[in-house]
Amino acid sequence: MSIIRARNINKIYLRGAEAIAAVNGIDIEIEAGEFVSFTGASGSGKTTLIHLLGCLENPSGGTLAIGDATVFEAGKAMPESKLNLVRRVHFGYIFQKFYLIPTLTVAENIRVPFAFHRNTGANSNVSEIASMLGIEKRLNHLPKEISGGEMQRVAIARALINNPKVLLADEPTGNLDSKRSDEIADILSQLNREKRITVILVTHNLNLAKRAGRILELRDGRILQS
Ligand code: ADP
Ligand code: MG
Repeated sequence: MSIIRARNINKIYLRGAEAIAAVNGIDIEIEAGEFVSFTGASGSGKTTLIHLLGCLENPSGGTLAIGDATVFEAGKAMPESKLNLVRRVHFGYIFQKFYLIPTLTVAENIRVPFAFHRNTGANSNVSEIASMLGIEKRLNHLPKEISGGEMQRVAIARALINNPKVLLADEPTGNLDSKRSDEIADILSQLNREKRITVILVTHNLNLAKRAGRILELRDGRILQS
């Protein structure tokens, strides 16, 4: 059963008089439990596509279904309150920047999503998630007191707290050295294998991309046929 289905999805940005098709008519179906990587040169549309699939941006056209909900139809979105629910029930987001709140401890940062919404399936056991990610000794530290690799683990813990079905990671190792990058990739693989979380990874690091069961390359807003 597919968890994400996009048909002819596109996103046009206007820059002055110029129209840029950042995503230019993509069809894709992602199965629940899959691990998919998107690679491609800078500017090929990776971030735009992952934002569209994660319902963070409205497409200019095309249709997108998440689970059994049609989120966008001919570029038109479902009502914002329903869309918010789809986001919260399905997705955990991880970015290149960690976006931790500097005045909150690690444990408090991990709990931030609860301030907005708590899924019925939420794992409110912060220490269990922290242990799985190897940051259990850091729970009372402030972000400035931990390493970059640990900061990204905190961001992953925060993404996991509401028990997402899909983890979307846009260049999650872009700020990390190769050893920390491998560790983050190990974590994503483990979550996919053991927790059966669908993982969608954007990276231009081919070694990391290879962790996925399927690697798709973008060029000029389209998926290259391999
Ligand atoms: P990637 O993540 O692969 O580097 P992006 O999805 O960020 O690619 O960008 C794809 C194209 O869309 C680029 O040409 C970029 O300049 C353009 N683009 C992305 N976001 C915007 C925006 N908000 N406004 C205008 N152009 C944008
Ligand atoms: Mg990008």
